[in-house]
Amino acid sequence: MKKCIVIGGGFAGLTSAVYLAKAGYNVELIEASSKLGGRTYSFLDKNTNTIIDNGQHILMGCYDETLKFIKLIKAEDNFHFQKRLRVIFLKPNFETLVLKSSLVFYPLNLLIGLLNYKAITFIERIKLLRFILMLPFFSKKKLERMNVSEWLKRGHQNDNIIKAFWGIIAVGALNTNIEKASARVFADILKKIFLRGNSSATIVLPAYGLSESYCNHAQKFIEENKGQIILSETIQSFEIENEKVKSIITSNRNITDFDFIISTVPKFALEKILPDAIDNKLNINYSSILSVHIWLKENPLNEPFYGLIDSTVHWIFNHGTHITVVISDANELLEKSKEEIYDIVIHEIEKYTKIKRELVDQYKIIKEKRATFIPSNDIMKYRPSSRTKLMNLSLAGDWTDTSLPSTIESAVKSGRTAAENIISTVVNED
Ligand SMILES: Cc1cc2nc3c(=O)[nH]c(=O)nc-3n(C[C@H](O)[C@H](O)[C@H](O)COP(=O)(O)OP(=O)(O)OC[C@H]3O[C@@H](n4cnc5c(N)ncnc54)[C@H](O)[C@@H]3O)c2cc1C
Repeated sequence: MKKCIVIGGGFAGLTSAVYLAKAGYNVELIEASSKLGGRTYSFLDKNTNTIIDNGQHILMGCYDETLKFIKLIKAEDNFHFQKRLRVIFLKPNFETLVLKSSLVFYPLNLLIGLLNYKAITFIERIKLLRFILMLPFFSKKKLERMNVSEWLKRGHQNDNIIKAFWGIIAVGALNTNIEKASARVFADILKKIFLRGNSSATIVLPAYGLSESYCNHAQKFIEENKGQIILSETIQSFEIENEKVKSIITSNRNITDFDFIISTVPKFALEKILPDAIDNKLNINYSSILSVHIWLKENPLNEPFYGLIDSTVHWIFNHGTHITVVISDANELLEKSKEEIYDIVIHEIEKYTKIKRELVDQYKIIKEKRATFIPSNDIMKYRPSSRTKLMNLSLAGDWTDTSLPSTIESAVKSGRTAAENIISTVVNED
């Protein structure tokens, strides 16, 4: 039985390990931290005795690879799937605007939904619809030279449409502002969301903490298929001989008994293990996400989540006794103290909802500094593919060349590609 070492236990690593274990490989997944999940995990907040996530994660109906993976590890019941797209947007004074697909058939249901989105004028809705219908016809080459803002303006999307629609979708999907993100990446996602059928535009939310929702199921799948998961062990370096990795040096040992390695660690971590592994033209910049978990004495919200129009705060997720407030593209707020951040957040929440400062019992702020990479045009062409010049080393991770932005779907797609490349190499050798 061929043995594969998978480095990293985030979505990409767990996906690689699951697919290899399913194909009968002897898999050993090694994770530096004391828990699985990477950038997606949950933990017990002792002050409130609540399981919370490091950051709220949204999946979408167009996350084909992720949904297949979740099904494979039998974790589907741990996610809430919308039947039809429905998002409540808020303006100040709790003015609510609904974006939902109607009951008629696709694509008419989405088109009618957009035409009824009253956050923008009727003429603006027509312009928005026209832009969406034009998506298949934009030149990919031209999109690769533009940022999202330039593209939207050329497509006659005015400030109001950008503020009330595109800005919210872009910051949610790309976690950066429209001046920095590649128009090509955004166009590709929009096509997946709006032009591929009814369920693609729907929202999928974990029903429990992220670790319960998927990590435990992935671990069970790997272990039931005779794989092994080792936590709290860091890969430090590789010894290379004849264009192959000969041994893996970890914080505890030297590993030499393996046939293949898949590294799923982020670029900055891979550079420590193998300094010249990556094209030095790939200059990744990161965008942070701030999550503010707020426990309430009384919760006046009744929808599962809300998008905020023209606010520093982008999303509010409602978990009943507590809410999670998400600020994407938050680099500018990182240096502020927790008290300052809380003040900004509560001020916005009071402005947009019926939640008042007096209703707050406790709060907890989580800063994820390198939450996602910025999908700018300059980096998209230098993202590495799964195969490397070392014959037994493959790469995966959301930052590798999946053509997707820094998302769970990119991580899962990369993990599966790396595993399948190994499986097909072995089949061809046999
Ligand atoms: C707050 C937040 C909110 C987000 N929201 C969304 C969202 O709503 N939707 C969405 O699709 N995406 C979202 N993302 C992005 C998403 O979480 C990531 O794209 C995805 O989790 C990346 O998975 P990965 O496996 O590629 O990398 P990681 O999750 O970073 O996994 C890499 C793993 O490698 C381990 N590692 C590193 N170095 C070593 C070493 N030397 N030895 C052993 N192990 C090592 C790390 O500990 C880590 O566990 C969000 C991210 C954050 C932080």
